[in-house]
Amino acid sequence: MGEKYQPRPASELKDRYDTVIIGSGGAGLTAAIQAHELGLSAVVLEKEEGLGGNTNRASSGMNAAETNVQLKHGVIDNVGSFYRETYQDGGRLNDKDLLGYFVHHSALAIDWLADHDIKLEDVTITGGMSVMRTHRPASLAPIGGFLVNELLRVVGQQGIPVFNQTKVTKLLKDDQGTVNGVEVQTTAGTKTIAANSVILATGGFGASKEYMKRYRPDLVDYKTTNQPGATGDGLKLGEDVGAQLVQMDLIQVHPTVQQDNPHVYLIGEVVRGEGAILVNAKGQRFVNELNTRKIVSNAITALPEHSAYLIFDQGIRDRAKAVDFYDKVGLVVSGNTIEELAQKLSMAPATLKKTVATWNQAVKDHDDQEFSRTTGMDRDIAKPGFFAIHIAPAIHYTMGGLHINTHTEVLDGNGNVIPGLFAAGEVAGGLHGNNRVGGNSIAETIIFGRQAGQQVTLYARSLK
Ligand code: ADP
Repeated sequence: MGEKYQPRPASELKDRYDTVIIGSGGAGLTAAIQAHELGLSAVVLEKEEGLGGNTNRASSGMNAAETNVQLKHGVIDNVGSFYRETYQDGGRLNDKDLLGYFVHHSALAIDWLADHDIKLEDVTITGGMSVMRTHRPASLAPIGGFLVNELLRVVGQQGIPVFNQTKVTKLLKDDQGTVNGVEVQTTAGTKTIAANSVILATGGFGASKEYMKRYRPDLVDYKTTNQPGATGDGLKLGEDVGAQLVQMDLIQVHPTVQQDNPHVYLIGEVVRGEGAILVNAKGQRFVNELNTRKIVSNAITALPEHSAYLIFDQGIRDRAKAVDFYDKVGLVVSGNTIEELAQKLSMAPATLKKTVATWNQAVKDHDDQEFSRTTGMDRDIAKPGFFAIHIAPAIHYTMGGLHINTHTEVLDGNGNVIPGLFAAGEVAGGLHGNNRVGGNSIAETIIFGRQAGQQVTLYARSLK
């Protein structure tokens, strides 16, 4: 994986850059690389000590349609179904322009990463998708940490400066309302930085009780999978210069989050994508496990115990490498047989055995008569050992955010562009409708991060 990227000391922060990028997640790093390659001087400012934001925590992969990687795996896809399925899964509330841009630039984004020697050569599937279009590393490593490390490698090679513990507290604008810089708090005090443009890549507000109270009071007591810095700063910064916020009440609750300990762990959708089932406390299935996150979460919440168990075997575990990590931190219950596993979970062994046998028959016939599941059925649950992870829904992703157009320009309440201000990634709203499909958030960061890098360059050229 190479040298770990070392953020620059605050003393090296200059007074001026062509473009200032706020946030070091997938969107920010991608925008920085793209802008830098097009000739701009770019800087990335990150308020936390660690780089990579919530992107670090992404597990499943990056969705894209009509890629060469898919064809190598025999998967024949088309952007039309990627569009239709994402639209359907998003409750038809997705911004159609953003969605159109997204699906048509997804394969290019995979190629762009490969051009930077960031290869996503395996494919899997996530809930709500009809084919394998979730790209991930051949090592099957969780995508987030891999991507952040690799993007930081490129950032390092290209000499793009990244400053951590540098929080943007204000956007600056001139008399005409054009954004032309930022105010920051660094370890060495506060400072003003001038720039032609600013890209907000600050992520969502999934860790903000304040925003939750304002937009979704029903979720205030839910746990969150988000890193502590996901407090919606970009929304506030944008609002202060007139940006419009859209769909702020659309918040995704992720169905499979282990939360029995103070530290909350998201159990990646890949575990179900590779074949795991969900059972209730009695050991019975109760939902199509690969329906959308919204539907699966609601089904778990409707159970009397408000939680469920993921059940899988060694064959599935071999395809979902993250399970080794979940096991290491003590989240996995194991048994040599289904009966032994059931006993450890205080379930009637005969019930769980019957559930698994019925499921295995469904896999064999490719016909799930109970819950009409049609995906994630490539392997049954028969290879010892057998495993369970106790899960329940938690706040995961904020679909709403800054109103942007397909040029990643931030819009005000009248639909006018705020000159000099761009946004990409989770901070932007509208792409996902009321349910964000697994694998679409990483795709969004790369696709719209690249677009932001291109658009700030065009904007800089227009000023000359
Ligand atoms: P995305 O997936 O959209 O790229 P991430 O959550 O991965 O979003 O990354 C967003 C990053 O932005 C996080 O690391 C977060 O700490 C950082 N961030 C948020 N607000 C600020 C701020 N005011 N100043 C600097 N960095 C910020």
